Amino acid sequence: MYTARANTMDSPKADEATDSGPKDSNSNPDGEEEKEELFPGFRDADAFVKYGLGAVLSATKASASLPQAGDDYDFYCSFPGFREFCESQGDKLLRCMSQIMQHHGCRSDLKDRNKLTDLEERLDLVVDSNDVILERVGILLDEADGVNRTQQPVLPAGFQAPKIVVSSWNRKGSRAGSRSETFRLLHAKNVTRPQLKFKEKVDNSNTPFIPKIFIKPNAIKPLPSYFTDKQIRKERPEDLDVPAALADFIHQQRTQEHVEDMFAHPYQYELDHFTVAEHLLSKPEPQMYKPIAETKCSFVETLEDLVALNEKLCKESEFAVDLEHHSYRSFLGLTSLMQISTREEDFIIDTLELRSELYIFNEAFTDPAIVKIFHGADSDIEWLQKDLGLYVVNLFDTHQASRALNLGRHSLDHLLKHYCGVESDKRYQLADWRIRPLPDEMVQYARTDTHYLPYIYDCVRAQLLDSNYGKPGLLQSVWNKSRDISLKKYVKPIFTEDSYFELQRRQKRSLNTQQLTAFRLLFAWRDKLARQEDESTGFTMPTHMMIKISEELPREPQGIIACCNPVPPLVRQCVNELHLLVQQAREMPLLKAEVMAPKTKGLAPLKKTEVTLFGPHDTSRVSEVSESDLHPGSTDEMPVKQGMLFSEDEDRMDIGEQNISSLVAKAKITQFEETKEEQESVSVAQMKARRIVESFENPFRMYLPSRGFHISKAAKFDPSSKIFEISKRWKLQSMEQQQKELETKQEAKRKAREEAKEHAKKVKEKRKATKESYQESLQNVATVRQQAAVSHLSLSVSPISSVPLLCTLSTSLSMSLLSRNTSVKNKCYIHPGARHGILEMVLQQAV
Ligand code: AMP
Ligand code: MN
Ligand code: ZN
Repeated sequence: MYTARANTMDSPKADEATDSGPKDSNSNPDGEEEKEELFPGFRDADAFVKYGLGAVLSATKASASLPQAGDDYDFYCSFPGFREFCESQGDKLLRCMSQIMQHHGCRSDLKDRNKLTDLEERLDLVVDSNDVILERVGILLDEADGVNRTQQPVLPAGFQAPKIVVSSWNRKGSRAGSRSETFRLLHAKNVTRPQLKFKEKVDNSNTPFIPKIFIKPNAIKPLPSYFTDKQIRKERPEDLDVPAALADFIHQQRTQEHVEDMFAHPYQYELDHFTVAEHLLSKPEPQMYKPIAETKCSFVETLEDLVALNEKLCKESEFAVDLEHHSYRSFLGLTSLMQISTREEDFIIDTLELRSELYIFNEAFTDPAIVKIFHGADSDIEWLQKDLGLYVVNLFDTHQASRALNLGRHSLDHLLKHYCGVESDKRYQLADWRIRPLPDEMVQYARTDTHYLPYIYDCVRAQLLDSNYGKPGLLQSVWNKSRDISLKKYVKPIFTEDSYFELQRRQKRSLNTQQLTAFRLLFAWRDKLARQEDESTGFTMPTHMMIKISEELPREPQGIIACCNPVPPLVRQCVNELHLLVQQAREMPLLKAEVMAPKTKGLAPLKKTEVTLFGPHDTSRVSEVSESDLHPGSTDEMPVKQGMLFSEDEDRMDIGEQNISSLVAKAKITQFEETKEEQESVSVAQMKARRIVESFENPFRMYLPSRGFHISKAAKFDPSSKIFEISKRWKLQSMEQQQKELETKQEAKRKAREEAKEHAKKVKEKRKATKESYQESLQNVATVRQQAAVSHLSLSVSPISSVPLLCTLSTSLSMSLLSRNTSVKNKCYIHPGARHGILEMVLQQAV
């Protein structure tokens, strides 16, 4: 990690040196000079980073020890002193973060009053900014290395596979005359695709995930017939020879009666009725782990061994489980390895080889008498369902325990160090786990992920009881949170016409109509191809390349290739098709940055706009006027009050009053009302009708003013054809139309603004009154507790330095969110490397 960072820091100059020719062997002395310039007051990058990490760590610790939302926090908040202090400190932090985000050109404003989604949206903003910053770090690293990082799985240094090296990197390495230690990169194409050997085809179709279960051990409520009847399950929509939407519809018809079962959690009932055994709530005597060297470790890759292991597991009272997952060369990802540790033995199970057989583990996994210990099980629970059809009843998540204990850091590394004194090395976490035979180093890494967990499970339980004066409340809450995690359901990524928008929004680029069309078409192309080829979207075409092509709209196929470095194999193969898409985008009437937004799924008989030119099959224009101007799509025009990230202030209307009221407040209200109204008025039959309608495509759709999808046909480019003429005429019409629409929009905006002003005034008055009466009621509340609370807080907040803000905020936000909503957790899952990346950017900033 550190080495990689040091490389980046001085790489731009090193590159220049290489480019200009003569000197490139003197990189060392050169490097040191540069480092001095780069890190004033620090010996080198390492010292700088160490210092920064320390600061971040103490800030994270402080933020973790703040009272948590949901329990303590609400109590403390009843003291005005506490609240005021929190607010002022919070403001300070937010201002600082906002500045950092602005510096990186990220959206840093969100004046959203909707209390329900408030925190989540803020978190999204922070996550988005982290993404943007990290992507930049990633690109810089790639450039510095001359290697596309994401394409290269990490392999252990000792693993000698054919070395395919990208040019500039190669040159540097060979001139220096030594194969460096960090040289662990390898093209993934050297690993055979495990999918080829799967007995059941991977289902990448654009349909929701249906549980893979067909037999349900330990059932209290039997498995619905849908799962036990093979005949129904066999019919897959993609096997029907009809358009996709129609296939979906037919499939839905056939499975109508099973719909509820199909999407329910198969063990919902058992989990709902699960109670933790009495003896698990009393204090255990931690049972020391066996030293790794004295522990037998077996590799399980045959059915016979698997069955034997299953027998063994059924006799245990607890065992630890972990998974490794590969996501680059597969659309949905592949669970590549399962590690299991009992108190006596370690097992490494080849889940690629035994993918179709692993369901037998449900016997032990859903046995409520056996505790399954995981660390951070959120993803594991989903992967188990997705690939292996496995469910867990009686889960204990040591990550949740660590949170409840306020250990400050909740990673497995930290627990290993804290309880076992073991220094672990997370270097292989992102290795390519498809590799077979598995190199020894990777096996060693994998088994440490579970080997110590049973012991840690003992320790945290004891500590949870101790820290709660022997009462089981805190421990019980960890069991409850763990159960919530095992209730998670895997959700397959579904492509909709609007999916592109979310991604585009995060890019913080304003695109004109042509560019946006290109982005939309590329997005659809990428999704389709990735599903078809069973590759990740990142492998098919990384987002930054999609953006580059959309911005440049190359006139020649060669131009598309030029936008991609290195060129992804599928892009090279499909360059002509891609070129047609770009051409099609160029056909769009050119308008400046269109404020685009996904429509809330408008359903059948709709309040149509005045245009009646198009047939009933066309839904592309539906509810466009009312929506497109209400979404805060392009943030460029939005005035940003310096340093305000998430304004909670009551004088919201004072800042950039007009724009904000129309863009933010209004959009929420309208959207909400619209969805509600539509949901209520649409019957099942209407839904079906709509799906059928959507499976037809209006051939003239591409000439409509905006939105809608169409693949270009050759005739369109032929000036002699009728369609060309029509096209020209319609383009003119559509421009006129848009002008009209614009005027209507502006009028609507003006009205909305006035209404919003009026409303804000009322709300303000109301709040003031409430506040006053609340203050009054507080007069008599105990003052001693109040003071204690305040002093407690000032202790925990003050060490937060102004440097590691992004990290701190995402941690504290995520923590408070977590206590309310575990589903958000995924969003705040920050790559360890990523954390360093953020830190690096933030620190650079501070200097
Ligand atoms: P772990 O539970 O730490 O062994 O991680 C299990 C799997 O999660 C790994 O095999 C990776 O596929 C994935 N993973 C873990 N950490 C990260 C990360 N920081 N970024 C992306 N994927 C991760
Ligand atoms: Mn894990
Ligand atoms: Zn692991």
